Amino acid sequence: MSEATQQAPPAAKAAPAPAKKKERPDTPIYKFYDVKGGKLTRLRKECPRCGHGVFLAEHRDRLTCGKCGYTSYKKGQR
Ligand SMILES: [Zn+2]
Repeated sequence: MSEATQQAPPAAKAAPAPAKKKERPDTPIYKFYDVKGGKLTRLRKECPRCGHGVFLAEHRDRLTCGKCGYTSYKKGQR
């Protein structure tokens, strides 16, 4: 006699809660541009190394590129 070896599939477990994400404001790229009257204005400085499309992150005293690590210190600040 064959035993009923088939087990009922475990109840669908809810996916474990994702680890809490590090709080970091992730600025959407479109916020770096401003379009007025068909003219495009870049609100952030672009990375001189990476070229167009790569913006520098603004810090209190410097601008940095998250892609290549370029850092530009702001002038007039100590
Ligand atoms: Zn760069």
